[in-house]
Amino acid sequence: MLQFPIYLDNHATTRMDPRVLEAMLPYFTENFGNAASRNHSFGWVAEEAVEKGRKQIADLIGATSKEIVLTSGATESNNLAIKGVAEMYAQKGNHIITAATEHKAVLDTCKRLEKHGCRVTYLPVGQDGLVDLDQLREAITDKTVLVSIMYGNNEIGTIQPVREIGAICREKGVLFHTDGTQAVGKIPVSVLTDNIDLMSFSAHKMYGPKGVGGLYVRRKNPRVQLTAQMDGGGHERGFRSGTLNVPGIVGLGKAAELCSLGMTQEIARASELRDRLKDKLLSELDETYINGSVDHRLPHNLNISFAYVEGESLLMGINDIAVSSGSACTSATLEPSYVLKALGAGDDLAHSSIRFGIGRFNTDEEIDYTANKVIEVVRKLRDLSPLYEMVKEGVDLSKVEWAAH
Ligand code: PMP
Repeated sequence: MLQFPIYLDNHATTRMDPRVLEAMLPYFTENFGNAASRNHSFGWVAEEAVEKGRKQIADLIGATSKEIVLTSGATESNNLAIKGVAEMYAQKGNHIITAATEHKAVLDTCKRLEKHGCRVTYLPVGQDGLVDLDQLREAITDKTVLVSIMYGNNEIGTIQPVREIGAICREKGVLFHTDGTQAVGKIPVSVLTDNIDLMSFSAHKMYGPKGVGGLYVRRKNPRVQLTAQMDGGGHERGFRSGTLNVPGIVGLGKAAELCSLGMTQEIARASELRDRLKDKLLSELDETYINGSVDHRLPHNLNISFAYVEGESLLMGINDIAVSSGSACTSATLEPSYVLKALGAGDDLAHSSIRFGIGRFNTDEEIDYTANKVIEVVRKLRDLSPLYEMVKEGVDLSKVEWAAH
């Protein structure tokens, strides 16, 4: 039995796994201690739970427990990594390299640093969403202190060549941070083989709770130093002060463990559902395009532009399905996604795009319902579109001389 609305927005957040909730509950009630309390069993129990969670997330990414700094989520982790490195290594240089398609938590952090004297290079991406390794190599100067390139993109699912980027950074003696928020727990990620020095992640993208995440900070070869961005009691070995979110960390750990145990099957299942949706849409609808690389892509991501269809109208037409459109609807303007624009998509195609994010709890029936509904609504909207009609009549729209007013 289908239940509505159908949730297909798993890049925005994921439903918490009931096993995660179960693990967390005792830490809201009887085990409520502060993990920093050293003098009694309430504190010891909380600390033990935190250390278990830390180990579970460390194991998922090939790190050691001491390399995990627990935070409130990936936004904070990105801020801590980028600002922390910029401040700590200011003597060495003031140059940072990132990419045009990063999450705002990286881009706006870089913009802030530009106001404080940093120079930032925003690498372009190709039509497939990938950065060019030669361009990266050329952008590195003796003033570069950090390269920050995300693992998997939250809109188009593009997986960057992280291992190669890490190798270039290592060769040049530059630190490498990656925003792993969409990749950790979904595909195999190893800070060792991927040559990563710092990595952000977040529990609520991997079936854990909101408001908790972390930053991996390498301790050996090289030992990464950071200037703390939060002053206080010196928690997290001085990297991040603040009383630890014990239930959240227990949830993060449990979520990481579950992702690790089920990863092979989940990758197979998500990509099967994704491809089923993709194949149906592409075979039934013309003028329909996939955004971003097909080969280097998160298994649960599909981002499609339906030409001659306005994304917001399509969203309204399929309002029993929760997805995102390629337009960021701000108060006054309807701006097309900067990620899609970075791929070279025109405003029209960017406005007509939909992001589907498949997750652990989606079913075959939900995917079939979604495919049929999208096909039906796109056809209806195109029936109303004079532009689509002209194209079908063989008119080349680029050659049309529209009357000027
Ligand atoms: N980076 C990426 C790639 C994301 O998708 C998100 C969440 N939209 C974040 C960072 C921010 O994560 P959080 O919600 O944990 O602050």
